[in-house]
Amino acid sequence: MSDIVERLRARQVTNWVHATGQTPRASGKRTDPLCAAAADEIERLRAEVAQLREWLEADARCPCCDTVDACLDDCTFATDCPQDAGRMAEVRALLAARKGEA
Ligand SMILES: [Zn+2]
Repeated sequence: MSDIVERLRARQVTNWVHATGQTPRASGKRTDPLCAAAADEIERLRAEVAQLREWLEADARCPCCDTVDACLDDCTFATDCPQDAGRMAEVRALLAARKGEA
């Protein structure tokens, strides 16, 4: 299955010709402008999410043991700064929730 953006851009719809005084008739196919707009929006949102993730990754890095996803056994950050460690854990969970998805 190809990416949803590619599928939206490739989607074809019937092109209807409306001549005055005549019944509308199908005249071939064309790409769907609404789907193209949706693909544009998905790409814009993906770029925005990537920027936000990059920004959040700074908060996922532990100042004690310098890890980004799981602290080392001898890390004392959670004891030393429980509030900051709580935020770090939330950010790590948020970032991990979408890993592996495109
Ligand atoms: Zn740590």
